[in-house]
Amino acid sequence: MAHDLLIRNARPVRIDRADPMLGDAAGEPMDLRIRDGLVVEMAPGLPEDGARILDADGRWVVPGLWDHHVHMVQWARTLTWLDLAGTRGPGEVVARVKSALTDSTAPVLTGFGFRSAAWSVQPTVAELDAVSGSRPVVLISGDGHNGWLNSAALAMLGVPPRDTALDEFDWFPVFARLEELPRDAEADDAAYREAVRRASAKGIVGITDMEFGRGFADWPERAATGITGLRVRAATYPATLDEVIERGLRTGDPLSDGDPLLTMGPLKIISDGSLNTRTAYCCEPYVDEPTSRGKLNVPPAELTDLLARATAHGLAVAVHAIGDAAVSAALDAFAATGARGSIEHAQLMARPDIARMGALGVTASVQPAHLLDDRDVTERCWPDRADRCFPLRSLLAAGVTLAMGSDAPVAPLDPWLAMAAAVHRSADERPAWHPQEAVTPAEALAASTFGAGTVGAGSRADLVLVDQDPLAPAGDRVGGDSAAAAARLRHTRVSVTLVDGEVIYDGR
Ligand SMILES: [Zn+2]
Repeated sequence: MAHDLLIRNARPVRIDRADPMLGDAAGEPMDLRIRDGLVVEMAPGLPEDGARILDADGRWVVPGLWDHHVHMVQWARTLTWLDLAGTRGPGEVVARVKSALTDSTAPVLTGFGFRSAAWSVQPTVAELDAVSGSRPVVLISGDGHNGWLNSAALAMLGVPPRDTALDEFDWFPVFARLEELPRDAEADDAAYREAVRRASAKGIVGITDMEFGRGFADWPERAATGITGLRVRAATYPATLDEVIERGLRTGDPLSDGDPLLTMGPLKIISDGSLNTRTAYCCEPYVDEPTSRGKLNVPPAELTDLLARATAHGLAVAVHAIGDAAVSAALDAFAATGARGSIEHAQLMARPDIARMGALGVTASVQPAHLLDDRDVTERCWPDRADRCFPLRSLLAAGVTLAMGSDAPVAPLDPWLAMAAAVHRSADERPAWHPQEAVTPAEALAASTFGAGTVGAGSRADLVLVDQDPLAPAGDRVGGDSAAAAARLRHTRVSVTLVDGEVIYDGR
């Protein structure tokens, strides 16, 4: 078989404890024959039979990793955007904008990553105008839930003049229209290539792309320009649902003929706000803002209609719900319609809903790296319910499927960071935060692979060779030395990534 690829001396990492196919062989070097995008044979000492050889040199092999929640356009562009992370107030942001404008020729200056929810002074349009004049400036907060635009950018987008930044209801429609602003197409193209290269270098073989806009049409266009090597499930939003239905696209359908990598994703619905803006919809008021319980962006009846419509047209749904009341409302809609799919974030959950989620078969699409970023703010606004935040262990115990992701650019597109955070819930010297909700390294890896299981004959040839066993020594133990287990995950180096049997990244 001239087109076979033979991977020699690779050691499968055992993800499922009692994998019948692998028996006792886990850890022993094996040869893997790859044909037509599948592992067709796995055993020691397979004959060469004219195959191309890739010597793994005893490296470990895991299934290709998935990031189940990415905003790809934004992530790619953050590689070219002005970095506003760590700014402590409007003055610091404005100073960075001023110097960036001197250096940049971009038609629109875009910045990302400020966190105004923590500032004592809120930003104004006037102070941004003072340094930018007629050059359009768009600044996006780190959680994507508010936007600070100067008057030139507001005018270009047809937004009435205003004094303050835009948040939530005002912001999302504007956010969705940023595409209309003039862009440098060549720089965009280079940014996508770089974003995909970085994903492959982390062992990522697939993403669910939650980008606003028309991903179902944009991805085939990108692939035609050679931006490929990544499986993409392209989500749609209610605004483009009609077009998706008209095209007859159901979740899992290929987006274009002959490209197996690009498929239709779920209908994404943003049902509530975020923690940092105190807009996640809760059963009880915010402790540090007692007049507010957050808000529901989509009334329950409308949510049920959307889920019913998606289900009738073969689409899975991905419902963004961060607060416990929003999660409850989302589960009500799943129960009423029989929709399949996921709740995105599920950051705070009422205890009874955890079991209900398992019974309904709804996937929890979670971003463990957020628990590192949100630990301190949670102790301010939800100190009385922090034990119900990121309840990963409880979800697994209730039979809920976990699907991990980053929500990049909110957190870096790095599945190893997400896995580490799920295993050891601390980013610093402090003890783990509610360690009873930690998962094991094997569970974290399984939740990052789209259910692939331990690599063996019959596996899809979406594979990653890594330089050490990421699960040793604490593979299936809860707790124990979770800090050491997390450090091992974080420092696992990816050597080779294969997608559909093709070597996409080779960093040996
Ligand atoms: Zn998101």
